[in-house]
Amino acid sequence: MHVKSAVFIKSAVRPSHYPPAKLPEIAFAGRSNVGKSSLINTLVNRRNLVKTSRQPGRTQLINFFDINGAFTFVDLPGYGYAKVPAAVRRKWRPMIEAYLTQRATLRGVVILLDIRRDGDPKDLELINWLDHLGIPAPTVLTKSDKFTKSKRQQRKNAIRRLLPADSTAPILFSAKSRQGKEDVWAAVEGLL
Ligand code: GDP
Repeated sequence: MHVKSAVFIKSAVRPSHYPPAKLPEIAFAGRSNVGKSSLINTLVNRRNLVKTSRQPGRTQLINFFDINGAFTFVDLPGYGYAKVPAAVRRKWRPMIEAYLTQRATLRGVVILLDIRRDGDPKDLELINWLDHLGIPAPTVLTKSDKFTKSKRQQRKNAIRRLLPADSTAPILFSAKSRQGKEDVWAAVEGLL
C-alpha cells in the first residue's frame, strides 16, 4: 500500500460523535502497551500520527484517521491496564460494543497480541466476541523482534491454537525491524 496521506480526523466516545460513515473502516485493538500506536505509525510511515502515551490506557477515546482519502483507520482504546481508574475501565465495554455493533462501514478489527504472552482472558473475550458478531479479526503478534526466528514460529503456532478454529494464522510483526509490515497491509487490504 502506498500511503500518500494519513490525517487525524477526530476523537469520539459515542456514535453521534463519530465522523460520517462513508469510507470503509479498519479498527485496531489490543491491550494497553501492546504496540498499537507503533504498529499504526509504521503502517502509515509516520513517527507520531498516533501518539504513544506515557500513561497507557488513561485516555479512553476512539480515534479516527483518514488514509489516502480512501479508507479510515480507527484506533480503539487499549484495555487491561491496571492503573486505569475503575470508573474509566467500566466505560470501555459499552463504548466498544456501540462501535462494533453500530458502525456500518466497519470491515474488520486487527487484534494485536504481544508475542511474549498467551493472549489473556480479555484478549480472548474480544476475539470470541468479534467471531460471534461475524466481524473479521486477523491477529498480529507484536514485538516479534524479542524472539529468534524459530522461537517466533513456535509462539505463532502456540497462540494460533488459542484462537477460534476458523481464524487465519497470526501475522508476525515488529515495529522495531518493520518485519511483517507488508503482511499486515495484505491483511488490511483483504478486509477492505
Ligand atoms: P500502545 O499502548 O499499544 O499504543 O503501545 P506503544 O506503541 O505505545 O508501545 C508500547 C511500548 O512497546 C513502547 O515502549 C514501544 O517502544 C514498545 N514497542 C512497540 N512496538 C515494539 C516492537 O515491535 N518491538 C519492540 N521491541 N518494542 C516495541
